[in-house]
Amino acid sequence: AAKKARRNTLARFDAAMEMEAVRRATMETELRRAIRARSIVPHYQPLIDLRSNEIVAFEALARWQTSPGQYVSPAEFIPLAEEAGLIVELTDQLLRQACADAVRWPESISLSFNISPTQLSDPLLGLRIIRALNESGLSPRRLEVEVTESALINDTKTARRILDDLTAAGIRIALDDFGTGYSSLSQLTHFHFDKIKIDRSFIRSGDDSERQDKVVRAIIALGLGLGIKITAEGIESESQLRWLADLGCDIGQGYFLGYPADARQAAALCLHEARRGLLN
Ligand code: C2E
Ligand code: MG
Ligand code: MG
Ligand code: MG
Repeated sequence: AAKKARRNTLARFDAAMEMEAVRRATMETELRRAIRARSIVPHYQPLIDLRSNEIVAFEALARWQTSPGQYVSPAEFIPLAEEAGLIVELTDQLLRQACADAVRWPESISLSFNISPTQLSDPLLGLRIIRALNESGLSPRRLEVEVTESALINDTKTARRILDDLTAAGIRIALDDFGTGYSSLSQLTHFHFDKIKIDRSFIRSGDDSERQDKVVRAIIALGLGLGIKITAEGIESESQLRWLADLGCDIGQGYFLGYPADARQAAALCLHEARRGLLN
């Protein structure tokens, strides 16, 4: 009986694996089609200066709309695009679209763009970014590239060359999701960053808010010492915003300050911001 039960379990396991494989293959086909049809587009979430309350940048966040109101998360399709060898084409498309949108924003508003970990081992990445930027007419000073810690340890030599090329071109580099990798602090000694984005897991106020407060305080002090701007992501409430502003955090991002919005809504937000500036 035990043997039979084991055989059934294995059969179920096989069936589940097969279903998962089919699901992935289907998604890969759909992803390829979506890229060709240009139905993956950047949305934009504002980054707010916590002293002036002004929008200083928008972060481009890829959105794959499969049907009205229905989206696949980038956390799902970016890794898939990497495995399927589609990431270069997808990134190029998203970056060009984002630059084309950003040239129409006020000069004071930058574009922040995410680069996935595997791409930092592509020696041509820097060239591709600079070429897309030049063709769009967006000033390099208005582009910031976000990289995560895990991206830097795969192929340190290539990553360094890419980041150096970008920096030399006047593009800024932000270290994203800071504090979640296992070598966060060592990255700060090896690479030059213009900005650190504290991961939102540090911002969510848990049971240990006193310890959380101390850790975030220390990160902000670190940024001050290194002359690096600090952004806090995942601000969802007024109390979190007050807490971070009081600690002297430079920039904030999160649902409380603004949800990711499509290009048209982001442009409207810019216009509103510009009018407000005129009235001040
Ligand atoms: P990320 O770069 O850390 O982006 C922040 C994520 O947090 C976004 O999720 C954003 O929608 C979400 N978020 C913003 N504010 C809040 C908040 O107050 N609360 C909560 N709970 N979440 C908030 P999203 O858009 O699903 O993107 C997930 C990740 O996918 C990004 O994390 C980034 O690593 C990656 N990604 C997004 N777009 C691209 C892209 O165009 N290229 C690449 N390579 N990666 C991308
Ligand atoms: Mg990011
Ligand atoms: Mg982040
Ligand atoms: Mg994050």
